[in-house]
Amino acid sequence: MIDVFTLSLYLYAIAILFFVLSLRWMSEVKTSRRGNWSAATGMSIAIIATLLAYTIHQVDLLVGGVIVGAVIGTPIALKVPMTAVPQRTAMSHAFGSLAVALVGAAEYYQDKASIATNDFFTISVLCGEMILGFLTFTGSTIAFSKLQGIIPGRPFIYPGRILVSLANLGIAVALSVYLVINPSQSFVLPIIAAFALLFGFLLVMAIGGADMPTVIAILNSFAGMSAAALGFVLDNKILIVAGSLDGSSGLVLAIIMSKAMNRSFINILFGGVGAVKKTMTTAVETRTVQGYSPEDVATMLSNARSVIFAPGYGMAVSQAQHVVKELADVLQSKGIDVKYAIHPVAGRMPGHMNVLLAEANVPYDQLYEMERINPLIPGTDAVIVVGANDVTNPAARTRKDSPLYGMPVLDVDKAKTVVFIKRSTGPGFSGVDNELFYLPNTMMVFGDAKKVLTELITAVKNQ
Ligand code: NDP
Repeated sequence: MIDVFTLSLYLYAIAILFFVLSLRWMSEVKTSRRGNWSAATGMSIAIIATLLAYTIHQVDLLVGGVIVGAVIGTPIALKVPMTAVPQRTAMSHAFGSLAVALVGAAEYYQDKASIATNDFFTISVLCGEMILGFLTFTGSTIAFSKLQGIIPGRPFIYPGRILVSLANLGIAVALSVYLVINPSQSFVLPIIAAFALLFGFLLVMAIGGADMPTVIAILNSFAGMSAAALGFVLDNKILIVAGSLDGSSGLVLAIIMSKAMNRSFINILFGGVGAVKKTMTTAVETRTVQGYSPEDVATMLSNARSVIFAPGYGMAVSQAQHVVKELADVLQSKGIDVKYAIHPVAGRMPGHMNVLLAEANVPYDQLYEMERINPLIPGTDAVIVVGANDVTNPAARTRKDSPLYGMPVLDVDKAKTVVFIKRSTGPGFSGVDNELFYLPNTMMVFGDAKKVLTELITAVKNQ
């Protein structure tokens, strides 16, 4: 017979297998649901194994925590719309990392005496995980507030901000070194926490615009790394492995996203993208645009042989993916070639457009990543931009004074005609005006994407 502790280790191994499989399955839209179930199963096994492995001293607290968590978490999971998933994710990182940091602090105060006498490694790791945990907490809370529109999304920029931010981190690290050398000096710990909290706040306040998705991935990575570090402190294997998987996958995602946006990490963390650049926006704002009707667009499409849909955040807001597919079907029935252009950060989360279009049963082979679709756009008759803005903005290519400069975009302006379906000439997430609205080959159709597309379908059918 094996004892419960050994059994829990076997269960941990099974849970880890589920976690690894979940990452594998989540890397493709087709298998992503299975990936989600696999992760949930792994987590359930990990919780059961942990309950088995340790003596629970206060069952009432544990049960209370589970009930409070379930009562708050379940409605959030059921009700949060897909467009709000990034801010929901930011909140998960905030609470997860706060929990990790507080458990670390509790561990220190509980075992101060033994740590002080003989455990150099543990106190070093504890300091590292607390700095990461606390800075991720405030950083993620600010990311949530920006994405939710509670505070302005643009970067908070002031002279010497990089120095001020780094000074905060430097003080937290220096005090940690002091604590490692003098582990019994417990008064230092709250000061370390305060500086780490302030650093996370300042770091994310200075980031905005198109860099927010990458920041969320970086915060994801920090939260994972702090959990892994806590695993070493508690000698908990599942926490080490799950934290490392979370930390490394967040890092890989951040690298993929920053590469896709042609930005370096340093630039993202200290670049201040999205800061208001008055000279550029006022120059554009004084111009006027001409609005077109769905019937005008249908007339133009009657001569088209090829159409590319470029979806963005507005398609998600309007839940227009099904009508996009319906229009595509109508166009295809008229012999028109249809493709979809997928920008890596279109929408508000990685893979957002893929998920929505898969939900509408758009065939995978019609989805083209940015690198594959851009060379095809110049030979295309019409690009229909459905609620996208930043990811089409040519200022990213041409205007060195634009905060978006350097981010690769869909070259929709190179098509014979560009149709923009959106409600106004207002900017997108980054707050940068889009010069495309004013070009002669652009047709602006103002209105909610789903409504306009429904009218367009009727107009095309009547042609
Ligand atoms: P944008 O945010 O640039 O633009 C979306 C446009 O949709 C707006 O200009 C808005 O214009 C329009 N819109 C909103 N509601 C509707 C509606 N009901 N019907 C029609 N149009 C609508 O979106 P993009 O997808 O082009 O770019 C994504 C941006 O979000 C990038 O800056 C990216 O960095 C950022 N981001 C991306 C994340 C990711 O992981 N993908 C995460 C967080 C941020 P109007 O108000 O005039 O209708």
